[in-house]
Amino acid sequence: MSDIESQIMEGFGDTVDRIVATPTGAIPLLRKGRGGPVKNRYTWMKVYDETRQHYGRPLTLLAAEKLREHVTPGSHVLIVTNSHEMDGPPGSAVLARAILVGLRAVPVVMANYEPGSKHQRALTQSLTGCQVIPVLSREELTGSIWTPYTALVYGWPMMSVSEAEEAAESLLDELSPTAVVTVEAVSCNEKGIRHGALGGPRNTGDPDERLVRWNQLLEAANRRGILTVATGDNGNECGFNTIKDILVRHHEYCRDCGCPCRAGIVSAAGAEIVIPATSSNWAAYGIEACLARLLGNPDVMHDEQTHYRTLVNCADEGIPDGATAMPSPSTDGCSHEACMAVITQLRQTLLMSMKEIVRESR
Ligand SMILES: [Zn+2]
Repeated sequence: MSDIESQIMEGFGDTVDRIVATPTGAIPLLRKGRGGPVKNRYTWMKVYDETRQHYGRPLTLLAAEKLREHVTPGSHVLIVTNSHEMDGPPGSAVLARAILVGLRAVPVVMANYEPGSKHQRALTQSLTGCQVIPVLSREELTGSIWTPYTALVYGWPMMSVSEAEEAAESLLDELSPTAVVTVEAVSCNEKGIRHGALGGPRNTGDPDERLVRWNQLLEAANRRGILTVATGDNGNECGFNTIKDILVRHHEYCRDCGCPCRAGIVSAAGAEIVIPATSSNWAAYGIEACLARLLGNPDVMHDEQTHYRTLVNCADEGIPDGATAMPSPSTDGCSHEACMAVITQLRQTLLMSMKEIVRESR
């Protein structure tokens, strides 16, 4: 790449980063109970700024570059998410699409759900919304002319720590993934306690207790040298331990969860690349835009119509926005309009960045 090409690529990455890390159309104030303590969500921009400084490269671009480097055609990419709220399934689905179209790899979208439940359908319907065929068994991934755009939807049951360690190793043995990307996968802190964004323990910390456990999977992937990328918007998402020092400076619940564990909400697992954005979904859209730019293929990025369908499909299963608790096609208190506009901004940035202006006289 020539000097000017690499400067343009870095500028493009920074533009994408700023789009997905700027809380346009977001509700900035979150209150815990009527008359309760408040949280200012605007301070998250400082977490982004310092993380950008830490890596010395635009974060969404760095993730896309590493994915292009590590992910080989036909290999599996694990996309770890949750399906209990709107932040997760849409981002996972569009990332699955980008990995299929751009890298010809096989996405495996993982979450904790009961088979046949709305939480499983949140994943299958989000995938369908963005033009990917969801399948529920490995056998359906290959072997027909209808399989090139399939993604495996994979249930990760509640487990004890030792069960999760064992399940992680055997899954990595079975699928040999070339990357693991987390999209809003909340996980336990260093004391084994899982917290919400505003603190509040969700378990006792007993390692034998069965709950949703992702740290063991990410740590096993790290030990094997598999690329790990984490997206999040609060610090309690699996992978965010990498930037713990930044998080505790700017997020009061990362400093102190307010519960008896006193260890803060930061996930105990660290990822190679961490992307703090307005929401995990938005970070995923940013990775997708950068992958499209790197590959010189705008079709890797989904368009507005596809985005509308993906968000509505997920919400229509009765999946609530994680901030407002209403099943609207929005994410973390960012309006539906804002979630649509972010795709327009990203796509226009992508399409226009592929042109050049020549000024000359006749
Ligand atoms: Zn705690």
